[in-house]
Amino acid sequence: MCLIFVLSTLNVNAQRISKNKKAVIASVEKHRSELIDVSDQIWAAAETAFNENTSSKVLADYAEKNGFKVERGVAGMPTAFVASYGSGSPIIGILGEFDALPGLSQNTTPEKSPINTGAPGHGCGHNIFGTASLGAAIAVKELIEQGKLKGTVRFYGTPAEEKFFGKLWMVRAGLFDDLDVCLDWHPSAETKADVQSSLALVDFIVEFNGQAAHASGDPWNGRSASDALELYTTGINYYREHIKPTVRIHYHIQDGGQVVNVVPDYSRLWVRVRDTKREGMLPVYEQVQKMAEGAAIMANVDYKISLVSGIYELLVNRTGGVAMQKNLEYLGPITYTEEENAFGKKIQEATGKPQVGMDSAIRPLEETLEHPGGGSTDVGDVSWIVPTIRLRTTIAPKDTPWHSWAVVACGGMSIGHKGLEQAAKALSMTMTDLFESPKLVEAVKKEFKERKGDTVYKGMVPDGPPPIAQNK
Ligand SMILES: [Zn+2]
Repeated sequence: MCLIFVLSTLNVNAQRISKNKKAVIASVEKHRSELIDVSDQIWAAAETAFNENTSSKVLADYAEKNGFKVERGVAGMPTAFVASYGSGSPIIGILGEFDALPGLSQNTTPEKSPINTGAPGHGCGHNIFGTASLGAAIAVKELIEQGKLKGTVRFYGTPAEEKFFGKLWMVRAGLFDDLDVCLDWHPSAETKADVQSSLALVDFIVEFNGQAAHASGDPWNGRSASDALELYTTGINYYREHIKPTVRIHYHIQDGGQVVNVVPDYSRLWVRVRDTKREGMLPVYEQVQKMAEGAAIMANVDYKISLVSGIYELLVNRTGGVAMQKNLEYLGPITYTEEENAFGKKIQEATGKPQVGMDSAIRPLEETLEHPGGGSTDVGDVSWIVPTIRLRTTIAPKDTPWHSWAVVACGGMSIGHKGLEQAAKALSMTMTDLFESPKLVEAVKKEFKERKGDTVYKGMVPDGPPPIAQNK
């Protein structure tokens, strides 16, 4: 009797999803091979920030083919686009990224093997990110088309996440202002509703200008921009002892002089300051700017600081996270073939990790941590404009080093494709929840208002167009 009771309970649970949710799952399965083809095309194109011409076109064309109205080149960025279907409220958005990372070219093999040494590769899985989100939007669109859901679904093609943070200019253009709720996800080595924040950051360029001279013949005539650069980075590295453990400071020397026999008259660094909250990041940003002036004084050169962009920490929405979690649990973990597990183990072997294979277990909903650590995302800024519900699904074996060749390898083969399918299903199911339940939309908005409090969002981008021309 007991067993029958348990079985019938399981059965009831299994049937508890609505017809609409069953339909979106079926839609993702119906489009599966097309979605994989879209993802693989973006994977092969592997285009970096603001160069995503093929990737953006492949996604926008596929949206158009599926009946969406597509507006290309929005917010002053040729590779940004918005694809909409339906009318009226609710308006539910979903974000998609598609840019690659430089230098990570890689075959779909479990050992490091570039297709084209030095060329870009999808080391963050954004080929899958953009495609799964569009797949989810298409599934929901089909229900609106059939009159089973009412409202508007909108897919955002968001470029340059890995450099410059393209969403900032889309936020500035007001493209998210009329959304009720937005969804977002990220490829990962685990599967969960994502209820953790991300780090706020600011990016800026420091340039030093001195006087060139013969390094040996008349160095007294020279004022060295590379001396200033060295003094500046030395100052930053001393400063590290006196900042909170949550703060991160990074710099990339972009120009330290050209040859050994000239006193360099020009040097340039890209500097980044992060903290778990924007209010922690801002005073460090101020101090690190002062240090540039100090270094310039010591080296007797001029200096210039130019803001690139800055992003907010993510505003978590647990109400939405709970809805996402339920859908993930309904779907259950991804199952892998023996070959896929062996592929995962080989990647783990090659990257010095325990060879445990794939792990797609659905993680329980986590506590939202005050200081989550990890990286940053321009989804942060969107999440201060509109409540944002997030997800992670597995596209690589456990402990895979991120932004590495190993992620590129998995993202172009069946392990990545399975994560794509899982994400598209969970996202479209959660969007269906929102369309079906005005109450859920209200609850998600209520939490958003409470968390945002009286904070007035102030985007951190310089005036003028997005930095497409300055992209080097
Ligand atoms: Zn990413």
